[in-house]
Amino acid sequence: MTEIGWFAEPPRFGFQQRLAVRSELHRERSPYQEIVVLDTENWGRALLLDGALQTTEVDQAAYHEMLVHVPLLAHPRPERVLIIGGGDGGSLRHVLAHPVSRVLQVEIDEAVVRNSQRWLPALSGGAFDDPRAELIIGDGVRHVQETAERFDVILVDSTDPVGPASDLFSVPFYRSVREALRPGGLFVTQCGSPLLMADEWREAIDALRQVFASVDPYLTLVPTYPGVIWSFAAASMNRSPRMPLDDRWRTLLASAATPSYYTPEVHRASFALPASLLADRPLFPALHEAAGVASS
Ligand code: SAM
Repeated sequence: MTEIGWFAEPPRFGFQQRLAVRSELHRERSPYQEIVVLDTENWGRALLLDGALQTTEVDQAAYHEMLVHVPLLAHPRPERVLIIGGGDGGSLRHVLAHPVSRVLQVEIDEAVVRNSQRWLPALSGGAFDDPRAELIIGDGVRHVQETAERFDVILVDSTDPVGPASDLFSVPFYRSVREALRPGGLFVTQCGSPLLMADEWREAIDALRQVFASVDPYLTLVPTYPGVIWSFAAASMNRSPRMPLDDRWRTLLASAATPSYYTPEVHRASFALPASLLADRPLFPALHEAAGVASS
C-alpha cells in the first residue's frame, strides 16, 4: 500500500511498519509480479514485488551479508555457488567478493534483474558482468531438478513462499538441492519472519528436516522487513555452518563488498535462538494465541 508520502506492508497481528516515501520511480507488471521502485526519505531506493518490500539500499547488507557470508565462510573452499532468485543482484555481488570460480544465478523474472540494474544499480554493483557469473532466466525449482551440475553452496534468495516461489520451500525441491550439492556442501534459504510469518518459518524448517541430516536456523535484523527479525536456515548432510572456519573474512574487508553487518562474532551469535524458537514455537507465542492462531 503506497499512500502519498508513506509505504506500508499489510498489517499483521495488529502490527505495521511504514517507510516515508519521496516518490515512486517506476511501476510495471511482469508475467510474474508487480514491480515497484520507491525513492524513500532515509532508506535509499526500495524494491517492492507484489507490494512486499524486498530490499532497500540502506539495510540490504543485514540480509545479503548474512545469507552469503555465513555459508561461504563455514565452507573450507567454496568454488561453485548457485543462487536461486536474487534478481536484485545483492547476493551475487556478495558471493563474488569471495574467491569463487563460478556463480550460477537462476532468476525467474528478467524484469526484476532489468529494473534492479536500472533503478538500484548499487545493489548488484556490476556483479552481473563478472566473468565468473552466469545468469539464467528460468525457474529455479526446475533447474535444480534437471541440472547435472554440482555446487559447494546453494542459496535461495526468493520472495515469500507464494506463487512461483512456493515450490522453493518444498520437500521435493529440497531433495533435488541435496542431490545438487557436492560432498560437504551447504544449503541456505531465507525463511521469512519467525515473528509475523511463523507458519512459513515452521514449514520450511520441518521440510528441511525431512531431507537434510542437520538444519541450523539463524537470524538477522533487517529494520525494513516485517517485524525486523528475519530468518535463514542452513542445511547440510555433514557440515556445520555455525562458525567461520578461518580468517578468510578479512579478505572481505579489502573487497568492494566490505561488510557493514557481518563479523565472525555476529556469525556465531546468529545461531543463538530465543527460547520459543528453540522449542519449535513462534517468537512471542502469546501474539499468535491472542490472534487465535495455534502456536504449537
Ligand atoms: N532479498 C529479498 C528478500 O529478502 O526476500 C528477495 C530477493 S529477490 C528480489 C527475490 C526473487 O526471487 C525475485 O526476483 C523473484 O522473481 C525470484 N523468484 C521467485 N520464485 C522463483 C523461482 N521459482 N525461481 C527463480 N526465481 C524465483
